Amino acid sequence: MEKPQLSRQKTVAVVGTGMAGLATAHLLHQDPQKRYHVTLLEKRDQVSLSAESIQIPPQDSAGASLWADVPMRAFAGGFYRNLVRMYDYLGVKYHAQPFLFSFTRLPKHQQSSSGSSCIPRPQMVYASNFHQMPPVPRTSDMIHWCMEAIYTVLCYLWFTICCFVISPYSENLHTGQLSESLDHYLRRIWLPQYYVANYLLPLISSVCTCSHQELLNFPASDVLDYKRRTHRQQHFVVTAGVQCVQPKLLEGVELRLGVQLTHVIPQGNGVQIKYSNGDGNSSSDYFDLVVLAVSPDVAASLFPTLDSQLSAIPTTIVETVAHTDKSTIKPMLHATATQDLIKCSKEARGSYNIGTQRIHLLSNGTKTESVHEQSNSILVTTNPLFPLDKSKVLRSANFIRVLRSPLSRLLINSIFRNRREQESFSDSTVSLSSWRNGDNGVYLAGGWCWDGMVLLEGCVVSAMRIATDLGITVPWDVTAA
Ligand SMILES: Cc1cc2nc3c(=O)[nH]c(=O)nc-3n(C[C@H](O)[C@H](O)[C@H](O)COP(=O)(O)OP(=O)(O)OC[C@H]3O[C@@H](n4cnc5c(N)ncnc54)[C@H](O)[C@@H]3O)c2cc1C
Repeated sequence: MEKPQLSRQKTVAVVGTGMAGLATAHLLHQDPQKRYHVTLLEKRDQVSLSAESIQIPPQDSAGASLWADVPMRAFAGGFYRNLVRMYDYLGVKYHAQPFLFSFTRLPKHQQSSSGSSCIPRPQMVYASNFHQMPPVPRTSDMIHWCMEAIYTVLCYLWFTICCFVISPYSENLHTGQLSESLDHYLRRIWLPQYYVANYLLPLISSVCTCSHQELLNFPASDVLDYKRRTHRQQHFVVTAGVQCVQPKLLEGVELRLGVQLTHVIPQGNGVQIKYSNGDGNSSSDYFDLVVLAVSPDVAASLFPTLDSQLSAIPTTIVETVAHTDKSTIKPMLHATATQDLIKCSKEARGSYNIGTQRIHLLSNGTKTESVHEQSNSILVTTNPLFPLDKSKVLRSANFIRVLRSPLSRLLINSIFRNRREQESFSDSTVSLSSWRNGDNGVYLAGGWCWDGMVLLEGCVVSAMRIATDLGITVPWDVTAA
């Protein structure tokens, strides 16, 4: 049996209760040698991971309540290796979730103010992973649809082949050349602009919840890596919603809500934090270590040492609305195909009524609105292009979304570089900070704290990295065994 450590426990403040903060707090708290006393701090008056999720009452007295995750918390095999291992370790139940995506091209002149009445029907429907034959949408004539379908399949195949065989240009630190952007890569592989504008960008920008131009500025490696790893992999969602993950990660951790950090000041023998309480009073505390599991703009304002680096990381505000206003949704399919979809595969899923879910992508050429049809008629619209009937809005929330660019990728990689990579970064002609994650007792965690798309996997990877740095074995890390 392992002996508990007799020396004083180190105090750690983990700031932020998104997935990154919760996973970090859990890993440090469960240290078998009990070397860390963790305090989780959150500015809101509730834990944020599932703060905007909606509880749907059971349809009958025997049924279980359902949760609609807001925003969506889907994941896919291949890309989310560490998230899946963490869920398995925690005993979180999840299930495969097939999606049906419809693509609607809005007329260029269409204004959001012109209302949703003149929205055209979708021009194409795509089944995730080709889990079923893509149905023929209730639209134009068959010949036109067949030509469009053949065209999109050929473009899709070309893009997929390129992802596997044509690597994006990487950065050159000696010359200051940054890594290749998605825009440059798509032009280099001659992917037709029509396909890019009407299919590729609407689909991927709905994953990254940003505008088409913001997505084109991403490093190409992010999108290619995501595509390679998720190719032919199923999508999953947590069966009872991410609200069931929260208590498992929080177990035993000291939680202080309504604490808004204002300053993080490293001192010789620890880190001072200053914060304001819900009652408006300011206070300060000392911890041995501080983990900032917040977005980079917030981390930059709290910890000025990183201001110049972190302020170069692009962010945007994303609006997500849960509602029951169906006015922007046009029927996707012929009636027979709709009937097929309604058949729900209940086996192995208990009382949860789960079938194929539809995601409607409406694109005006620069932005894509996505409308996710959840169970029990709840719709979750992200980046709405059309005004919604206020009386049908159940909840509306804004989220900070961290974006990517070749420059931000370089800055982030330099912060999280390991000792072996130190030399190559010191040759860089781009001005990089000498600060590395963990210096001065300050760590960063978050969906953006890794070299990839800003999704839940980055939250778990960055939490695991901190634990490993502090000598804590990650219980779900099979590579450490
Ligand atoms: C609309 C939308 C849809 C998405 N869909 C998916 C998806 O399907 N799959 C997927 O993998 N990812 C998805 N993502 C991305 C994913 O949700 C994020 O990458 C992830 O939630 C980021 O978690 P985090 O812990 O890094 O940060 P956050 O969740 O942003 O947590 C930061 C925390 O810090 C707190 N905080 C901030 N400032 C302070 C302060 N001064 N003092 C104290 N506390 C503070 C905040 O209140 C918050 O609790 C989606 C994101 C959005 C916006």
